[in-house]
Amino acid sequence: MDDMQKDIMAPALYVVATPIGNLGDISLRALELLRVADVVACEDTRHARHLLDHHDIKAPLLAVHQHNEQQAAAKLLEAIGQGKRVALISDAGTPGVSDPGARTVAAVRAAGHRVVPIPGASAAITALSASGLTDEQFHFVGFLPAKVGARRTALEKLATIEAALVFYEAPHRVVETVDDLLAGLGGEREIVIARELTKLFEQIVRLPLAEAPAWLAADSNHQRGEFVLIVAGPAPREGLDAEAERVLKTLLAELPTKQAAKLAAEITGVGKNELYQRAVALKNETL
Ligand code: SAM
Repeated sequence: MDDMQKDIMAPALYVVATPIGNLGDISLRALELLRVADVVACEDTRHARHLLDHHDIKAPLLAVHQHNEQQAAAKLLEAIGQGKRVALISDAGTPGVSDPGARTVAAVRAAGHRVVPIPGASAAITALSASGLTDEQFHFVGFLPAKVGARRTALEKLATIEAALVFYEAPHRVVETVDDLLAGLGGEREIVIARELTKLFEQIVRLPLAEAPAWLAADSNHQRGEFVLIVAGPAPREGLDAEAERVLKTLLAELPTKQAAKLAAEITGVGKNELYQRAVALKNETL
């Protein structure tokens, strides 16, 4: 028995990623597991059957969606308790990522059963991989709230995060969302619009946020399909703000560089590394 088979023999909840468009984007391990699963918990049974039929897999299905996740989780727990292998899939991509799944996983873990991830596609990571953005960090937002006030508040908080921001959006709201991103984050940040990833009409463009509304308006096809929107992080601040500079200089007069930077970081909330680099530069200036 090879490692892959051994791994999929045990009763557990297997969280299985499925394709986000191209049916070929499913791992060997995912197919193997779906073949031996005693039950496949899914969002939409018709959708799941389409995927399983494509691979000639006959597993019984159980619908688990936002509105019945708690009751369905109880059934799945019972099945795992009886020694069954339960697979959990969503309509597309990775369960639990802007999709149901997290509550089921929590219930299964709380009952002391194994939860085994079978990784694969996720639209966010797929878009990031081809975005060409070089931000060291990204912040996954998923869908912004639907209500105008809540969206604005969310964007106000997001605007200060020093990372690329990753959003999901549906076609009927993409124009409005891009307008809100422009108003909330400013036109100078770059946006990557990734639509229909892994599908026939896949399109990935990168442009300043200020130009994004015109791009969407230029062709009705640009507003069709499923979207990942990634906004590059804010431009790095030039130098320290005056207060951080003052605190750092005061501490540097009394303390070694490293200690001064550490304390200044605690006092001002500015990053230790940034303060350390500035402290070294200040020391060099005075030599
Ligand atoms: N669980 C999924 C994942 O791992 O990415 C996400 C599910 S969420 C309900 C659906 C959203 O994901 C869509 O509205 C869209 O924003 C994004 N998405 C899914 N498939 C996509 C694709 N092929 N191209 C672009 N975005 C996609």
